Amino acid sequence: MGSKAVVLALGLDELRATGFREFAESLAEHLARRHLGRVTVETYLRVAGHFARWLDRRGDVASVRSVHAFLSGHLPRCQCAGRVTHSRIIARAALGHLVVVLRRAGHFAEPQVPRTPVDVEIDRFDAYMDDVCGLAASTRRRRRFDVRRLLEAVFREGPVDSQWLRADQVREFVASHGDRCSPGTLGVIAGSVRSYLRFLRLEERGPEGLEGAVPRAACWRLSTVPVHLDDDQVRRLLASFDKSSRRGRRDRAMALCMVVLGLRAAEVAALRVHDVDWRAGVLRIPPTKTHRGRALRTTARVARRPGAPSCGPPVAASQQATRARDSC
Ligand SMILES: [Zn+2]
Repeated sequence: MGSKAVVLALGLDELRATGFREFAESLAEHLARRHLGRVTVETYLRVAGHFARWLDRRGDVASVRSVHAFLSGHLPRCQCAGRVTHSRIIARAALGHLVVVLRRAGHFAEPQVPRTPVDVEIDRFDAYMDDVCGLAASTRRRRRFDVRRLLEAVFREGPVDSQWLRADQVREFVASHGDRCSPGTLGVIAGSVRSYLRFLRLEERGPEGLEGAVPRAACWRLSTVPVHLDDDQVRRLLASFDKSSRRGRRDRAMALCMVVLGLRAAEVAALRVHDVDWRAGVLRIPPTKTHRGRALRTTARVARRPGAPSCGPPVAASQQATRARDSC
């Protein structure tokens, strides 16, 4: 038998002499799976034994309350005989592992929290989301949170009688978040409420047509994207290109077309060398499916540089675009 096994056996013997004797092996196996050092395992087993002897003397059971009383009340004044650890940090870590094992065995007294009618209703709704909808845990958590607030706002401490849910209450609940939530979050809250109302309809427990009362959040596409870059951002963007390389010059020319001439990305991508009339200082924009072609007059700012690279139009022009029917 190795030294590790001897140490483990000593710790186990202590624990086997207590009211936790039936959990001694499970705790040892649990600690072994954590790959803890042998000294740590021995210490944790001794702490578990210490806690068990203390419980035995008091005739108490393992619970959140008794663990707290042991750590905060007993340990600082402990006069127990034998090798005991008085470090609260070590004892808390050790008891954390013990609690896992005891909980698994159903031997840990869970605190009895009084359940409210809203708790019961939320449990029913959660079972529906899990069993019927197959929703992910994170989605269910979010919806439980939103619907709990709705029910607490409407029914408070009283019984949850969903037949009495009114359209104006639903509307008011969702709308009350309008000032402090983004359109996206508001849409999520509205989605949670709609999901709960569908659940009520499925169980035939809610008034008819209540889903239509849930306001829709105006969430326009790209509405959260900044409208435009400011001057400093444009300067930094243009300065970021490597003008010593062909690719850098091409990219800068494309950016100039967008920020100075206001071209769309697709229009820039469609530009070809023959679209640039270098002599007249005009840039021809080919027609697209939804826009007719047009010509943009470049002006003195920088229409063209001598020896400009051939990989694209090095344009910088006035923002005055001359719309003209393209001959194409
Ligand atoms: Zn003690």
